[in-house]
Amino acid sequence: AKATGRNALEFYDPQLQAVVRARARLVADIRAGIAGGQFELFYQPQVEGNSVCGCEALLRWRHPREGYVSPAVFIPLAEETGLILQLGEWVLQAACRQLATWAQEPRLAHLTLAVNVSPRQFRQPGFVGQVLAALASAGARPHKLKLELTEGLLLDNLEDTIRKMGELKAHGVGFALDDFGTGYSSLSYLKRLPLDQLKIDQGFVRDVLTDPNDATIARTIVALGTSLGLHVIAEGVETEAQRLFLQAHGCHAWQGYLLSPPVSAERFGALPLTYGLP
Ligand code: C2E
Ligand code: CA
Ligand code: CA
Ligand code: CA
Repeated sequence: AKATGRNALEFYDPQLQAVVRARARLVADIRAGIAGGQFELFYQPQVEGNSVCGCEALLRWRHPREGYVSPAVFIPLAEETGLILQLGEWVLQAACRQLATWAQEPRLAHLTLAVNVSPRQFRQPGFVGQVLAALASAGARPHKLKLELTEGLLLDNLEDTIRKMGELKAHGVGFALDDFGTGYSSLSYLKRLPLDQLKIDQGFVRDVLTDPNDATIARTIVALGTSLGLHVIAEGVETEAQRLFLQAHGCHAWQGYLLSPPVSAERFGALPLTYGLP
């Protein structure tokens, strides 16, 4: 009776109804957007030493009425509704096609490409097959592909996660742990996972020069990653002062507006591949 009462209340709450309607429309729009080719990948360079070693693919949606819609808005909803399965498969295929295209260009052939994988997408029973099929049908080399996973996803079903990562790793696919430090990190599982890279979350990078706690966390992540033999990259690096601090504490690579925002494939191809960093 209580549930019915609440539903009835929701039904007559015009504000809530508007929210529900907007959500339903967004879901329908995502579906139409996939079919209509409205999604696009942007690429943000990752720099090690003085040169671009790879990039991260970031999803962009050119909505016909609303203009550009941020992934922060549509990814959570796509995840909730299961649309992320279609969207994520499209992302993998588009990323692999891009890798195959770059492989034809001597200037860009060395680049690795990191792809964000949502928890729901990774947990699908056919995930390993989906990745391998995307690589094969594009003709892309597996060791150029890196998958970015989040801590929650990894811990959800540790045995299944380790098996899937192991299978893909056997083909050469790499793995980065995204947003590191924001979830439930524990040394015991970090050791068991076949990871290649830790990404320091931009939330720690932002105030790394002014907030002693963030500085300590960033330094600790670098030390931890290094001691586990992992490559450590900082995301959200906006200033040279942030980069220098991270460099001084042993961080291996950088990604952020300091170097470039995420850009279209066309503009990415025109970016410099070396930077005069001290
Ligand atoms: P993320 O994986 O942590 O990606 C980093 C975000 O930081 C991106 O936001 C990027 O544009 C932004 N960024 C890069 N450099 C800087 C900087 O110097 N300063 C600041 N303030 N921000 C910077 P974006 O592109 O809006 O993506 C947001 C989130 O959406 C991503 O966070 C990721 O979780 C998710 N996402 C994006 N593309 C995909 C995708 O293809 N699949 C899935 N499952 N999730 C995606
Ligand atoms: Ca990411
Ligand atoms: Ca991140
Ligand atoms: Ca993030």
